[in-house]
Amino acid sequence: MESYITIDGWNAKIRFSSAHVIPEYEKCGRLHGHTYAVHVKVFGKTDEKGIIMDFAVLKDVLRDIVKKLDHRILIPEKSSVVILEKENDSIKVTSLGKQYVFPASDCILLPINSTSAETLSKYILEQVAERLSSEKQIEKMEIGVDEGFGQGAWTTKTFER
Ligand SMILES: [Zn+2]
Repeated sequence: MESYITIDGWNAKIRFSSAHVIPEYEKCGRLHGHTYAVHVKVFGKTDEKGIIMDFAVLKDVLRDIVKKLDHRILIPEKSSVVILEKENDSIKVTSLGKQYVFPASDCILLPINSTSAETLSKYILEQVAERLSSEKQIEKMEIGVDEGFGQGAWTTKTFER
């Protein structure tokens, strides 16, 4: 038997609204935005009180992570097609023949190669896993990132104990 707890990002308000570009795709290659929701499933052993982990702790961690992404322009620092130049308080983004200049305070630079839902779910999963490393009951975690309603990507991580 395997149990898990789950949080639905739309209902639990684990959401963020951000702008991004995916330069390699024609339509997504124009600056646009989404409201994202982050869902989680945490698989694990129940303790003597019958719980895997406290929902409130899990939600606090998720909220803290999405707060940093909310109302920002998401910029993938490790993209092979994005060149970043930092000038004073601005960030110049050059990609596939286009240039954007944003106020640095409006951006968040992420150590990822794309801001696809797939990659964002991996990034968020790593962040959550790091912060919950002391939660010994957890055996496996899945993070889903919806890009608007009805479409999303999930990543799974197994915890070696
Ligand atoms: Zn998009």
